[in-house]
Amino acid sequence: MLRIVLIGLLLIFIARVFWRVVDSIIEGTTGKRKREIKSGMKLMRDPICGTHVVAGTSLSFTTSRNTYYFCSEKCRNEYQNGFGQK
Ligand SMILES: [Zn+2]
Repeated sequence: MLRIVLIGLLLIFIARVFWRVVDSIIEGTTGKRKREIKSGMKLMRDPICGTHVVAGTSLSFTTSRNTYYFCSEKCRNEYQNGFGQK
């Protein structure tokens, strides 16, 4: 009886190690793309002109409530001016 339990635990252990290896291989081949989507490839809408911009590479302006992203310095300035007046 004890032997069956031990074999069962060993199989579970082997299966865990196996899936960890498989996971790391999958992450190795697709991980870079995943990370880009998570950090840099998030699309945000420019509140001034409505253009969709990539959050990681575009100009941003952070208020106490939110961070906004802009396609250009012109749009950001426009937003900042409007924000200051309110
Ligand atoms: Zn814009």
